[in-house]
Amino acid sequence: MLVVMKAQATPEEIQAVCDHIVEMGFRPHPLPGAQRTAIGITGNQGEANRGNLESLSGVAEVIRVSKAYKLASRDVKEEDTVVRFAGSNAAIGGRNLAVIAGPCSIETRDQAFAIASEIAASGAQFFRGGAYKPRTSPYAFQGLGLEALKIMAEIRDKFGLRIVTEALDNETLDLVAEWADVVQIGARNMQNFSLLKKAGRLRKPVLIKRGMSATLEEFLMAAEYVMSEGNYEVILCERGVRTFADHARNTLDLSIVPALHHVSHLPILVDPSHGTGRRDSVLPMARAAIAAGADGVMVEVHNHPESALSDGPQSLYPAQFATMMTELEKIAPVVGRHLTRGVSVPAAAGE
Ligand code: PEP
Ligand code: MN
Repeated sequence: MLVVMKAQATPEEIQAVCDHIVEMGFRPHPLPGAQRTAIGITGNQGEANRGNLESLSGVAEVIRVSKAYKLASRDVKEEDTVVRFAGSNAAIGGRNLAVIAGPCSIETRDQAFAIASEIAASGAQFFRGGAYKPRTSPYAFQGLGLEALKIMAEIRDKFGLRIVTEALDNETLDLVAEWADVVQIGARNMQNFSLLKKAGRLRKPVLIKRGMSATLEEFLMAAEYVMSEGNYEVILCERGVRTFADHARNTLDLSIVPALHHVSHLPILVDPSHGTGRRDSVLPMARAAIAAGADGVMVEVHNHPESALSDGPQSLYPAQFATMMTELEKIAPVVGRHLTRGVSVPAAAGE
């Protein structure tokens, strides 16, 4: 259920409705919008009794949300969600395109710094790098763990880049949340419901990658798990699904971008690196992603991809990444977007 407040409802009236929902035994989720605040109600199994919600002061209407996902739905929040990063111009969602780039895995401090300096010079605002890696083989490189998190924190200090990295399980989630700016939940964990719930109790943005065989609804239900716990800063990322096609590692499903924008207010990024598995396909699919309306891209970049410890064949050389930025910058205005280069700290933010 959803309580739509009147445009002129006061904070006190909104609070009173939230308190009332708690008294009814449910959980209120106030989601402020440009025009009015809507309050999502969760915790009700099936059709909840509306009680006298409609008669409370400041309430415009009470609506039944019939979709399985509620807080992720545009029914609850019409405007696009923009995830902002305090003290910088970096944002995911909205008019600006977000570019997240970096190696699949942090291998050494030198490797990570070399790549970070290249991608920062090309104007990326976000740095990615795996510290805890979900590898198909238990014998493959599993990541440097905490050491990698510390290297990335240094990278944020030096270049201003915001850090995106994956939490593999409940054990690593708190550590990742402590060191990173965005907590990534990988494709293999998209339906790890206990991990999603725990991520929902963080106060850090969560980037969820689409499971390899997840439908749009299953993908949004993963977001719903996080949001149902009170964390509304969720970013979706399409990274390809499994099909019969064998010319690429996965089949990048760009058709989910407009379909998601239609039903959800959450930002949607595209990862053409895992989506194709091939360096020569990354740039064309990155262009296509932006043309299709994605809110940005996540790409793997490596200074020596031939000797990378993971995902070398799909990693761009830094010069290719620079080309990608130039091309995306040109495509952006065609679809009403803008690619902001570099992270700037607003003068007013001070120390
Ligand atoms: C990654 O981004 O490094 C990764 C492992 O992605 P996915 O979960 O999409 O396979
Ligand atoms: Mn990878």
